[in-house]
Amino acid sequence: MILIINCGSSSLKYQLYNPDLTEVVAKGLIARIGENGSYAEHFVGQERLVMRRAIPDHKVGFDVMVDNLLHSELAVIEGPQAITAIGHRAVHGGDIFVESTLVDETVMEQLHACARFAPLHNPCNIAGIEECLRRFPGVPNVVVFDTAFHQSVPREAHVYALPYELYSQWGIRRYGFHGTSCRYVSQAAADILNRPLEDLSMVICHLGNGVTLDAVKAGRSVDTSIGFGTFCGIPMGTRSGDFDPAIIFHLVKERGMSVEEVEALCYEKSGLLGVSGVSNDMREVMERAEAGDDRCALAVDIFVYQIKKTVGAYAAAMDGLDALVFTAGIGENSKEIRSRVCAGLGVLGVRIDERLNSMVRNGHPNISAADMRVATLVVPTDEERMIALDTYRLVSDSIRFPAPITSFAPTYAERV
Ligand code: ADP
Repeated sequence: MILIINCGSSSLKYQLYNPDLTEVVAKGLIARIGENGSYAEHFVGQERLVMRRAIPDHKVGFDVMVDNLLHSELAVIEGPQAITAIGHRAVHGGDIFVESTLVDETVMEQLHACARFAPLHNPCNIAGIEECLRRFPGVPNVVVFDTAFHQSVPREAHVYALPYELYSQWGIRRYGFHGTSCRYVSQAAADILNRPLEDLSMVICHLGNGVTLDAVKAGRSVDTSIGFGTFCGIPMGTRSGDFDPAIIFHLVKERGMSVEEVEALCYEKSGLLGVSGVSNDMREVMERAEAGDDRCALAVDIFVYQIKKTVGAYAAAMDGLDALVFTAGIGENSKEIRSRVCAGLGVLGVRIDERLNSMVRNGHPNISAADMRVATLVVPTDEERMIALDTYRLVSDSIRFPAPITSFAPTYAERV
């Protein structure tokens, strides 16, 4: 079986796949690690186990995961030998990692070197890999990077117009994030359309707490909205999205803010939360806007406007558009946001059928109006499945598996 690990700063998520990746045998979440109120949830099919206990660090988190998988009343494996490969999500691969890779000593050293770009995330990812190397000796580990898919972004789109040495000597450039989601969703979209990925130009709108718009041409990311840090591009739950960097100098020089305060402002106090003053959660902001709260309405207006503008820019960057694809929490669930983003995009060949837009939950991924040149799709993302597929591919030389899954068509019954 293949174990997928997503180790964040205060959480550990896991999924256990059966050997041919046709089924998620068990999955779980260890939350609020090192904080008050930590808990663990473990799911097997419809059954759920919840445990509230102190989980002071990731090591204890891994103990809980192993207990749940091996010894709990919802145990699914008899021993660690049932795990044949482990796939890990890693946030930042710098410009070293252009694709997923098997872990060895050199890779671990390179991962440490990339941690300077993602000081909050990469150390947790590394800790997760080290725990697995220790607990499951001899089992191959694969690491899948959020940044890797965007390494194909051409240099005119990834080099900033700053002194060139910042790029050549310090690696300061656009890296992008959510690459694993965008890669999965673009392949799934091609499957749904029953067209080769190589023939398609798409804009992927990954709209969750974090937001990425990604231009994908012939299966390769050619531009992406997040850059060097993770707060630029489209406004997010608490992150600002793009703004004039002169504001930073103003805040430091004229308003006496420290660099740390400005950093917290950009990452934690802006976006939907900053404008609405109420919440970072789109559902709540939309409900308040509906009830007449003007700042909430403005937060949603800014969100929609920036997405729409970027879709147009990416269509131009790709010399055309064949598909517009919505995914992640907001993209998958909010027909209103989809409708508002698409309104007025007729100029690009985008128009949706509002009846189909309301029927996505019934398994209708294609919401385009009849005869529109551009297909508008809603595709549930599944980063874990993409990690499992990469892990499978990379270890299948050393371990015999049944035939791999080739279809990415989304499993609506499971997901929505
Ligand atoms: P993360 O980036 O943490 O994985 P998700 O992809 O789960 O986030 O997306 C979370 C966002 O999706 C939240 O802002 C939430 O309010 C929003 N969301 C979920 N369902 C809806 C809905 N029906 N309408 C609007 N927003 C929704």
